[in-house]
Amino acid sequence: MLGARIAIEPAVAQLHSEAHVIDLHNDLLTKMVLRGGDFGRRHGAQAIYNPLAFDLDLPKIDEGGVDALGCLLFGGMPLMARQRFWKQLDAFFELLEHHPRLVQVKTAADLRAAKMAGKIALFLGIEGALPLEKEPQLLEKLAANGVRFFGLSWNRTNRAAVSAHDKKNPNGLSSFGRELVAACNQLGILIDVSHASKRTVSDLIEASRTPVFSSHSACEAIKVHPRNLDDDQLRAIGQRGGVIGVIFAANYLSGFFESTVDTLCDHIEHVAAVAGENAVALGSDFDGFVPLPRGLRDVRDLPQITQTLWNRGWREPKLKKLLGENFLRYFESL
Ligand SMILES: [Zn+2]
Repeated sequence: MLGARIAIEPAVAQLHSEAHVIDLHNDLLTKMVLRGGDFGRRHGAQAIYNPLAFDLDLPKIDEGGVDALGCLLFGGMPLMARQRFWKQLDAFFELLEHHPRLVQVKTAADLRAAKMAGKIALFLGIEGALPLEKEPQLLEKLAANGVRFFGLSWNRTNRAAVSAHDKKNPNGLSSFGRELVAACNQLGILIDVSHASKRTVSDLIEASRTPVFSSHSACEAIKVHPRNLDDDQLRAIGQRGGVIGVIFAANYLSGFFESTVDTLCDHIEHVAAVAGENAVALGSDFDGFVPLPRGLRDVRDLPQITQTLWNRGWREPKLKKLLGENFLRYFESL
């Protein structure tokens, strides 16, 4: 959505461009498969929310000063789950083939090298375990293709885990889900707790040998939403060395029409206060069919967040930690 933007001070612009800016979650690949499109072309902002419009393209990613993006293979819907899943993987490799500015990264060292080389780094994750229900051994193939994180849940409960939206189901991770977590630990795939029910989140924290993280969530203490994390969950993730990527979806932050960049920054500050300043990160959910807060047209406006937090007194190193250093540290700990 459009909306007033604030002027970016030269010192903030410089800090933002120096910072290693990493956004943990987008659904670009789903949108690419659904509607096609030219990633190299600049797309205009939409005056009215249009779920099919692109939040991400190369020129706008550059303008937003973003260095790395987590791209999701969506496996949440049963209809042709597996076929769509592989189509998204094909779309990912086609993107890399057509745009030499893009590079796939699998490690923190890769991320640093990509920034040095002026490339835009993409790393793969999975959202939803449906495509793996009948063939869990596919996880090995996905790891071989560079998948580095896995959120077992989506908006409906699957064989592996109970969803955040399934309020009446008291269960969490199933024995199948536990097998998947053990396989992820073995393969060096990080566990993403986004979309998991409260019990599932606790089970994931307990079952995983490595710290878990959330690629795209906000705070229940500010806005009650089934997908938002409560303070105990934020603390539990932060204490173990994980990170929480704050989602930009307007309806998670406040009301659909009320959310602004300031509201988003309230959530960022809450995560930093409760989970710790080493645990807060960015997880936009760009191209995830979510309405963005006012003042944030798309990825171009990421410096608006940096400026808003600067105006609230945030400085280095805290700002750079939020923008990417926290995730780099977490990624490095594997
Ligand atoms: Zn999601």
